[in-house]
Amino acid sequence: MTNATMYTRVLESDASCNGRFFTGVLTTGIYCLPACKARKPKPGNVRFFPSCEAARAAGLRPCKKCHPDDFARGADPILEDVETLVTEIRANPAAFADVRAVVRRSGFGTTRFFELVRQHFHTTPADILLRARLEFAKQQLLGSRAPLATIAGDAGFESLSVFHQQFKTCNGLTPAAYRGLATTRKFLLELPGGFLLGYLRRALSRDIHSVTERFVGNHYTGAVQLRSGPALLKLTLSPQSVHAEILGARPPSAATPATRPGRPALPAAAEAHAIVVGLLGLDEDAAAFSRLAKRLGLARLVAGREELRISRTPSIFDGILWSIIGQQINFPFACLLKRRLTERTGAPLPGGLFAPPTPAAVSALEPADLLPLQFSRQKADYVVQTARLIVEGKLDLEKLRTMSATRAERTLLAVRGLGPWSVNYLMMRSLGFPDCVPLGDTGVTSGLHALLKLEERPGLDGTRRLMSIFSPHRSLATAQLWQFNQPIPT
Ligand SMILES: [Zn+2]
Repeated sequence: MTNATMYTRVLESDASCNGRFFTGVLTTGIYCLPACKARKPKPGNVRFFPSCEAARAAGLRPCKKCHPDDFARGADPILEDVETLVTEIRANPAAFADVRAVVRRSGFGTTRFFELVRQHFHTTPADILLRARLEFAKQQLLGSRAPLATIAGDAGFESLSVFHQQFKTCNGLTPAAYRGLATTRKFLLELPGGFLLGYLRRALSRDIHSVTERFVGNHYTGAVQLRSGPALLKLTLSPQSVHAEILGARPPSAATPATRPGRPALPAAAEAHAIVVGLLGLDEDAAAFSRLAKRLGLARLVAGREELRISRTPSIFDGILWSIIGQQINFPFACLLKRRLTERTGAPLPGGLFAPPTPAAVSALEPADLLPLQFSRQKADYVVQTARLIVEGKLDLEKLRTMSATRAERTLLAVRGLGPWSVNYLMMRSLGFPDCVPLGDTGVTSGLHALLKLEERPGLDGTRRLMSIFSPHRSLATAQLWQFNQPIPT
């Protein structure tokens, strides 16, 4: 990075540069992380250092606001404070009557705390609290016989009707229907008004070589890996609702040693429900993004697509495979490689589909096994090594879902083969973080080029700057840019 680039990142308080360099300010004698929110120095007073040691050797002292030495040591006390509080909220959401109680407990000022939650969790304290209440209630619904009113109270909802309404909005069904998933293989999800079935169909049938899913008319069939093993997920879609049915899943009691000890048995239908909510993007705030786009004077970005949601991958491993396989090749070829890997490692299911590859099956391969399938040597290596990390427990996919966005990003960036594009793609398409940009993505740069009538396609820094106006909804902005200038699906 040039000095000018580093200075720009400092002005933007770009947290992704933390650790890559340190900013020394000669007038104050202090050195900072690039993301430090202290007053920005004049360019003439700044010197950049590769390490804390180098800054100290030049006679500078660490900033008391951003704690650069802690960061360099791998500690991040402010982030850890916020994460600890979120863990507390999730464990006992009823202990927090409202957002004010959360802010009080945090010890930060209101503005600062909101900013920290936005930076590290991509959302608001109110949203963290609501989702914690909903998750808590889900566990109670499946794991206890308590009446709904008791569960609503124990989760911290102010009334049964608020519980009912919020639950249905995020999950597509009522709390009572969710409880019923313990004993059924079928369920019905209600779709929000204006749901864009055409765009969902496009998302679910874009893999032209897929052998794990099939979309015919209004019927979607996808092979999925549940905890108990592979199963078929059948969806029948209409503009108002989705009928889901799960076929071939073994009952949880028949779980094989592949299931980790200590994990509660989750009914197949509840697991399938979570997958379907992700496929539909039911819990995403499409309306909030549309309002933001309009406020920015960019109504044309969402015109005819205000309800657009991100269809998430059925599993995190599926997202990992896409994000590695899709690097630097065109999409149809990526689909072809994915198909060959699936045929090599996935099990055939009744009806002609294949079960998606598991980390165990891929880790049992040697990279050389993938070369005849036209994987590059490097890509073969990344795919197999990442699967091995998962199998060896060094990369815990389920834990990623509970991490802060900052922690998930750092964890994934440490995996060889996952660069910033892959990591952000994965965080957005598999983990559901709402404020990600897969930087360098040609769909994003050409979308911005057309949307803002720019003279040329923006580079990395330009993309980062332009996308910042869409925070904290940059994932939905990315999805909208991917569709901008594409024909409207029928
Ligand atoms: Zn500082």
